[in-house]
Amino acid sequence: MKLVFATHNPNKLREIQSLLPNNIELLSLTDINCHEDIPETGSTIDENAIIKAEYVKNNYGYDCFADDTGLEVNSLAGAPGVYSARYAGEEKNDAANVDKLLNQLKERDDRSARFKTVIALNLNGNENLFTGICKGSILEEKRGTNGFGYDPIFQPEGFNKSFAEMDLKEKSAISHRGIAFRALIEYLSQ
Ligand code: IMP
Repeated sequence: MKLVFATHNPNKLREIQSLLPNNIELLSLTDINCHEDIPETGSTIDENAIIKAEYVKNNYGYDCFADDTGLEVNSLAGAPGVYSARYAGEEKNDAANVDKLLNQLKERDDRSARFKTVIALNLNGNENLFTGICKGSILEEKRGTNGFGYDPIFQPEGFNKSFAEMDLKEKSAISHRGIAFRALIEYLSQ
């Protein structure tokens, strides 16, 4: 089955590819000659996933799924949330985002947080949502060099290391994205 995954991000493509069964042929936005940035104008993570999947369906005609992820920190009322990518500015700089979050949490005792991924699937005229949540806490300093984004400062619940100290397989087994994508795969396998 051919499906478009609405992303330009090679990290995400690599991560998802490793979770997909062989009978699903994944096409990237580059594969379908979509080179523009799809607008992410929603005010929630769910809305952004839906907007991206519908954009591909409406403009390129492909069945498609799109994901959106946010890091929600409890003591910051759910921030950075839907603004996780551009928390420190429109240039979407991972290191600057991490530094800003560490600063915001300097005086806070409650460092609990969660990653949330929502996948919107448009298939055969139907739309379905799949959600994955990974609870954890924000470390006081960066640890590890694997992964991307907020991985060096996010420690998942029940573990003594950050996402950036895990390899991809270990992270995918417990991550928000892994959970959401396994739900998508189960649905597609029915
Ligand atoms: P996106 O919706 O997947 O593009 O993610 C939005 C923001 O959250 C980006 O700044 C990513 O770097 C960050 N992010 C998404 N997934 C992860 C993750 O698994 N680990 C760390 N940061 C992530």
